[in-house]
Amino acid sequence: MSEVISRRSFLMGVGVGAASALAATAVEPVRASEPVAADSWGVLVDLTRCNGCDSCALACKEANQRPEPDTVPVSLNSDAYSFVDRRQVVSDAGIEQQMPIKRQCMHCLHPACVSACTVGALTKSADGPVVYNDKKCIGCRYCQYACPFGVPTYDWENPLGLIHKCQFCISRLEEGQQPACVAGCPTGALRFGRRSNLLAQAHAQIDTNAGRYIEQVYGEAEAGGTSILYLSGVPFAAMGLPTLDSQAPSHYAEAMMKKTPVIGLTVAALASGVYWLAKRREFLAQPQVVAEEVTHDR
Ligand code: SF4
Ligand code: SF4
Ligand code: SF4
Repeated sequence: MSEVISRRSFLMGVGVGAASALAATAVEPVRASEPVAADSWGVLVDLTRCNGCDSCALACKEANQRPEPDTVPVSLNSDAYSFVDRRQVVSDAGIEQQMPIKRQCMHCLHPACVSACTVGALTKSADGPVVYNDKKCIGCRYCQYACPFGVPTYDWENPLGLIHKCQFCISRLEEGQQPACVAGCPTGALRFGRRSNLLAQAHAQIDTNAGRYIEQVYGEAEAGGTSILYLSGVPFAAMGLPTLDSQAPSHYAEAMMKKTPVIGLTVAALASGVYWLAKRREFLAQPQVVAEEVTHDR
C-alpha cells in the first residue's frame, strides 16, 4: 500500500470525522476524573542532577515505539512524548550557561485536558496517570487549547488525526516497573514514587542543602498540583516552566465546556473540514498514485 492515503480511506476519514463530531454534539460532556488518591504516583525531577544526556527522552521513544528511536527529540510532538529542553540561564554571578530540563505531560491532579474533552477520550486515574484513548477521540483538539503546559500534540499526518502525549508508561506501572524515562536516567535526576513521599523528600533536600535549591517545589501547588515535580537551583520561569497559581485550570475548562459544547464542536468540525479539503487537494495533485490506488480499490 502506498504511503499516500487511498481514495476510500480518505473518504472514510471524512465521513467518520464528520459523523463523530455531529454525534458528539448530541451528548452531554463526559467528566472522566477519579478522585486523586493520596498516594498517587509521581516523578521528582531534580534539575541540579540533570546533565542533559537525553537518555530519558530516547528511552521514552523506545518504550513508546516511536519512529527513529535513535534520533534525539527537540520538542514534544507525535513522535516524541518527552524531550530535554535547553535554556540559557544567567547566574547571580553573571555567568551565562545552558541548562537542561526534561519536559513531558505533568499528569495534573485536576487536568484541564480531561475537563475539556467532551467525549471522555482523556481520563484521570486515581493512581496519577492522565491517559488518552484514541478510540474515543474525535480530533477536536480542545485538550490542546486547555492544557496550561502545551503538552498534547496533534498528528496532522494521520488521516484521522490523533492526539499524542505521555501516558506515564501506565502499562509498565501495571507490571510493577518504573517509567522508562526514570529507568533510563543515569544520574538519579529522575525519581519515581508516591507523590506524597516525593514531596517530603524534596522539601528535606531543600532544607538540608542550603544554597543548592530555590525554596520551592514546582508542581506542589501550580495548577492545583501535578504528579511531575521539579527541584531547581534557578527560578522555574528561567527554565521555561509557566508561572501558575494554585487554581486548577480544569475549573475554567469545565465552565467553558458546559456552556459551549455544541458551538465548540461545530467550529472544530469546520476546522477539520478545512484540513480535509487541503489534504484532498494534495491527494488529487498526485495523479500517478491516484491511478494506482483506484486500481487496488476495485
Ligand atoms: S499537563 Fe496538560 S496534557 Fe498533561 S495532564 Fe496536565 S492538562 Fe493534561
Ligand atoms: S513516563 Fe513514559 S511516556 Fe512519559 S515521558 Fe516517561 S518514558 Fe515517556
Ligand atoms: S537521563 Fe537524566 S541526566 Fe540525562 S537528560 Fe534525562 S533527566 Fe537529565
